[in-house]
Amino acid sequence: MGLATPSDRRPVVVSGPSGVGKGTLCKMLFEAHPGTFASTTSHTTRKSRPGEVEGKDYFFVSRQNFSALVSQNAFVEHAVFSGHNYGTSKQTIAEQNAKGLIVVLDIDMQGVQQMRSDPDIDARYVFVKPPSFETLERRLRSRSTESEEDIQKRLAQARVELEYADKPGVHDQIIVNDGLDKAYAEFEQFVYKV
Ligand code: ADP
Ligand code: 5GP
Repeated sequence: MGLATPSDRRPVVVSGPSGVGKGTLCKMLFEAHPGTFASTTSHTTRKSRPGEVEGKDYFFVSRQNFSALVSQNAFVEHAVFSGHNYGTSKQTIAEQNAKGLIVVLDIDMQGVQQMRSDPDIDARYVFVKPPSFETLERRLRSRSTESEEDIQKRLAQARVELEYADKPGVHDQIIVNDGLDKAYAEFEQFVYKV
């Protein structure tokens, strides 16, 4: 089928406002190509949502534990998003690389900035954009995973992320998620392009 494994093995960094469909697109990629990609498991201080699995979706830790990891220099990047800490550990990347898998990171804008400015990191960056702000708000609400207060925080942050993404040279590709099949086809093409 010609899409067994991408020739470009660099990490794929997916960012975009909360609720835009990053998780959905990544899941589609993993399911379409089993044994090829791996998500990294981030650490976070936010509470788990119903159905989220410790060690798979996130490592859910206390602020104290998170700070300890920061001082041990355990993270490739870390950020505060919507009042909670999030970080990608060096260990989660190393574990997936050791299995020969291409890592896919789903991180926020601050994480992208840190990775971009680290000369030791060579990755590919894709930004997922909503067709409109109203659509983003609708999707975030329809997911029904956040409180109204948290939705407002995420929408405020979304405006900042969308502004940042428009700057030239930040992302290698921008995908507008105005239809899942179309957005997924563009995502897959980006990941597999020679
Ligand atoms: P993110 O990971 O970026 O926060 P999710 O992948 O959780 O976003 O998607 C947010 C919600 O929007 C989910 O309920 C998902 O099913 C829905 N969704 C994603 N893409 C689309 C789309 N193209 N059209 C309609 N709904 C979508
Ligand atoms: P959520 O709480 O919806 O799972 O994630 C909120 C935001 O945090 C999303 O934009 C997601 O991409 C980002 N995020 C998740 N893990 C990390 C991480 O390890 N580092 C950074 N910088 N952002 C993360």
